[in-house]
Amino acid sequence: MKSAYLYKKLENQKVQCQNCAHYCTISPGKRGVCGVRESQNGKLLALNYGKIIALHIDPIEKKPLYHFLPGTYSLSIATVGCNFKCKSCQNWDISQAPQLTGQVGGEEISPEEIVRTTLKNNLPSISYTYTEPAVFSEFALDTMKLARKEGIKNIWVTNGFWSKELFDLVSPYLDAANVDLKSFTDEFYIKYCSGRLQPVLDTLKRLKKKKIWVEITTLVIPTLNDKEENFKNIANFIKKELGPEVPWHVTQFSGAISWQLQSLPNTPLETLKKAYKIGKEAGLKYVHIGNVFGLNTE
Ligand code: SF4
Ligand code: SF4
Repeated sequence: MKSAYLYKKLENQKVQCQNCAHYCTISPGKRGVCGVRESQNGKLLALNYGKIIALHIDPIEKKPLYHFLPGTYSLSIATVGCNFKCKSCQNWDISQAPQLTGQVGGEEISPEEIVRTTLKNNLPSISYTYTEPAVFSEFALDTMKLARKEGIKNIWVTNGFWSKELFDLVSPYLDAANVDLKSFTDEFYIKYCSGRLQPVLDTLKRLKKKKIWVEITTLVIPTLNDKEENFKNIANFIKKELGPEVPWHVTQFSGAISWQLQSLPNTPLETLKKAYKIGKEAGLKYVHIGNVFGLNTE
């Protein structure tokens, strides 16, 4: 547990968390939307600091990042908690654990140990991933600073629902990000993620402006975000606002492993190919179809 880095004190011992675009106002003894930040005696505490729920060594292509340190492996870490509640979440058992159980579990570990493990395994990067790194930003940031000193690259795999304050805090130490652009409608973000679109677009533009390497992922969910217009809007946004060299991953949804969309079928390959074609027609240099066994795209 540690004091949060980004919050404002309000009247009556309330606090406002400034870590993500929810900007939760939290009363004493209560937690924010992510379930891992609690207001205590007029202070905001990050309950998940240093409590690692997952630590693996993954191919960087699994993030997915196809154009950043290709062919390497990345130490990948997460705590519990997320600022979204995606019905499609495949890691819901850890992303939603605090909200579902009230528990903030995980194994105690220090930023120094994370960096030592990375060096011991000769890994060139650390990925902050699986859940949402924004909700463990204090631990991520402390680790990122040490990693940077050792020449290790820092990667966030994120929903992009950040505050401007969070961007300013972490971006100096961030080398690459894979950002979900789940849909191009606010309606989808509200109904299926309990989030909003605009803060995600703002984060993407800020990352681009700061010249941090970005790749984008859209999990294509049958009937929910698989219309041609949605693909066109995403592809045009990437081309116009971020640049044609920014890769777009269109990935297959699997209902069976989703949190609350188990009745939906897997994404047909034809739909992914349609998204691929639309991306290429919009002028994107790199469109990748992902999660489909045995299929490779450029
Ligand atoms: S990180 Fe986001 S969801 Fe969590 S308490 Fe802060 S503003 Fe709320
Ligand atoms: S943002 Fe990612 S980790 Fe969080 S609920 Fe959505 S899919 Fe799960």
